[in-house]
Amino acid sequence: MKNIRNFAVIAHVDHGKSTLADRFLEITGVVEKGKHEEQLLDRNPISRERGITIKLAPVRMVYKSFVLNLIDTPGHIDFSYEVERTLACVEGVILLVDASQGIQAQTVANTHKALEKNLVIIPAINKIDLPQAQIKKTKKELINFLGIKEDEIYLISAKTGYGVDKLLKAVVEKIPSPNDKTGRSEVNSLSALIFDSYFDEHRGVIVFVRIFSGQIKKGQKVFLANAKVEITVDEVGFFTPDLKPENKLVDGEIGYVVTNLKDIHQVNVGETIVDAVNRNANPLAGYKKIKPMVFAGVFPTDTADYLNLKKALEKLYLNDAAISFSPIYSKALGSGFRVGFLGLLHAEVVRERLEREFGLSLVLTPPQVEFKKDDHSYFEPYVKLTIIAPSKYLGDVLALCQNHRAKFLTMNNIGQSDSIELIYEMPMIELIADFFDKLKSVSSGYASLDWEFLDYRPVLASPLTLLLNGQEIDEFSEVVPSEKAYQTGSFLVNRLKELIPRQQFEVRIQAAFGGKIIASAKIPPFRKNVLIKSGKVLGTGDVGRKRKLLEKQKEGKKRMKMVGKVEIPKEAFFKLFRR
Ligand code: GDP
Ligand code: MG
Repeated sequence: MKNIRNFAVIAHVDHGKSTLADRFLEITGVVEKGKHEEQLLDRNPISRERGITIKLAPVRMVYKSFVLNLIDTPGHIDFSYEVERTLACVEGVILLVDASQGIQAQTVANTHKALEKNLVIIPAINKIDLPQAQIKKTKKELINFLGIKEDEIYLISAKTGYGVDKLLKAVVEKIPSPNDKTGRSEVNSLSALIFDSYFDEHRGVIVFVRIFSGQIKKGQKVFLANAKVEITVDEVGFFTPDLKPENKLVDGEIGYVVTNLKDIHQVNVGETIVDAVNRNANPLAGYKKIKPMVFAGVFPTDTADYLNLKKALEKLYLNDAAISFSPIYSKALGSGFRVGFLGLLHAEVVRERLEREFGLSLVLTPPQVEFKKDDHSYFEPYVKLTIIAPSKYLGDVLALCQNHRAKFLTMNNIGQSDSIELIYEMPMIELIADFFDKLKSVSSGYASLDWEFLDYRPVLASPLTLLLNGQEIDEFSEVVPSEKAYQTGSFLVNRLKELIPRQQFEVRIQAAFGGKIIASAKIPPFRKNVLIKSGKVLGTGDVGRKRKLLEKQKEGKKRMKMVGKVEIPKEAFFKLFRR
């Protein structure tokens, strides 16, 4: 165990974590230089296309006489649960900071996570090859932020490989081995933390584990301490980053276990695996359940796919424990699920994964936050917002926050640099719309943000109801803060007017809020001659043509949804909310 080093690379998104991992893999001979894809550990096709890491990724390397278990992590805040789970498996981290960006919001957030866990932090400034690299300034920021000396900071270019060898040596020297960390000698009874998992059609649930004591091998009978399920281990092994079978995993190691479990409800991340003969052993602390903040309705395009969607969500949950889901029914869209996400990017990625990995075609209603309600009032979720931006954008950032009902708390300098950290309280609903895009645009891309859920606070709000010819339409109704009611109401009415085709009668669209009509519009009926014309076609055409036309109409009807007497195209339900 003395020769094992478990570590992760953490940083703000795009600061070069996955690229640095490539260089480590080359130095340690796991892959050959120039003969692999860039950001090799970003294996999900969505990661590759978007150029962002969406999953933690473990890999085992041998370096001199040492075994190094590296876990690459995502930097985007929507995938912070991946970082959280990673940090429970390692003794230290490399904190990477892009020299052209300096310290950004997730640099701070992820460092705090590592500090909470008492992990050794090795700070490194990356991308020093860039002409716009500001090495001195970034150094100052780090010295001030971490309270360290200048010579503790490593200067590297993950792209050219400069300084990477030295950094890898520092990993071996500065990060403690698993037993140095805990100060214990090797214990015999098995205790392994499940930090990730996925479903394999042939082999059942495969779990990723960090062994905290004892060992685990093929054929061994083990026990899930929380779920109270006995398993006979089918296979164990290491990450290369593919799965490579081995005889056993020992104390301090990171690897995988093939459980052969087909019932996916029995396995959760944070679970502890113990010996079956020692099933009363105390489980490890595990993880706190993450709280999704953004919710959307997810429906199969073909209602017959409901059960497939259910199975897909259950399987995806194994690999992304940050989602939550419960069944819902919509009059217009049929059976589906209300799915909780950590943010909009997370929602997009989950949808793409469901469609691509499970072959589904889905429709997603627009993500919304959850309002709570007691007898008389509504409560909306608030977040603590941290923004880091160069001071020259301060005025614009302040103005933007003001426009989004944000309450200013404090402002701090980052090191002696000109970057400023602003802390606000803000309603979550303001954050999820387009706040981040606006922040990027007012700061020429330099500002970054981080947020955490605070609490629910009273808000003057009511359901905004949409009516078609006087009839309320549930699917179009939502709770909105009173001060946004007029704006939202007129937007929805006008958008519906564009989305609903003309009918044989006039359609009146209204938005009601707090018992009053606050917006309305009318769609005029077809003109008479259009009707006569289409009647003629039907009357005089040959039989084949007539049937074709009728079929086409029937097809068309399938895509329409009758709401009262009004025919609405299904897409309208989803298009309506794209703001
Ligand atoms: P991650 O999000 O932290 O994993 O960052 P990636 O490894 O995906 O890198 C983000 C971008 O920065 C990619 O386009 C990399 O090619 C680029 N990059 C990473 N390291 C360096 C570096 O040292 N120098 C330069 N010039 N670019 C780099
Ligand atoms: Mg990455």
